[in-house]
Amino acid sequence: MFLTRRIQHCQQCGTAVEYRVPPDDNRDRAVCPSCGHIHYVNPLNVVGTLPVWGEQVLLCRRNIEPRYGFWTLPAGFMELGETTEEGARRETDEEAGARIELQGLYTVLNVVGAGQVHLYYRARLLDTDFAPGPETIEAQLFHEHEIPWDQLAFSTVRKTLRHYFADRKTECFGVHCSDIV
Ligand code: ZN
Repeated sequence: MFLTRRIQHCQQCGTAVEYRVPPDDNRDRAVCPSCGHIHYVNPLNVVGTLPVWGEQVLLCRRNIEPRYGFWTLPAGFMELGETTEEGARRETDEEAGARIELQGLYTVLNVVGAGQVHLYYRARLLDTDFAPGPETIEAQLFHEHEIPWDQLAFSTVRKTLRHYFADRKTECFGVHCSDIV
């Protein structure tokens, strides 16, 4: 994803860009040779939740690429005009049709190779009447021993679930920050 975000044409005038270090800068940017516009591409935030119902957690089976058919926590790209909490709640509604109460930030995971930062909130499910949206094949509750570890869509989902089941033994849920290499 890092490379697919490479800019080809100027977003102001459509001219093919050149990659070079602008004056007073320290890294390559897409610079327009025609109008001089400099494009700054920065990491994207992915926001999501870890919805819990008693001993079970909610996973969604992806109906879209990448990782079609694999299981994930409800999450997606943050939109302009919303907070991280609003984004996490929206994604949970869109992908699982689940009603939740957010319980606080849980994992902050740097996925440097993909140019992303993933933020997951713990959440309490208010009921089990799920209504998955078009991006989800099915939404299902899993006990720890039922988690399809080898069919999880993303390493950030695996890491967040690992932290959760470890922390649950002590009922002590801090914020976990780490890097996905
Ligand atoms: Zn231009």
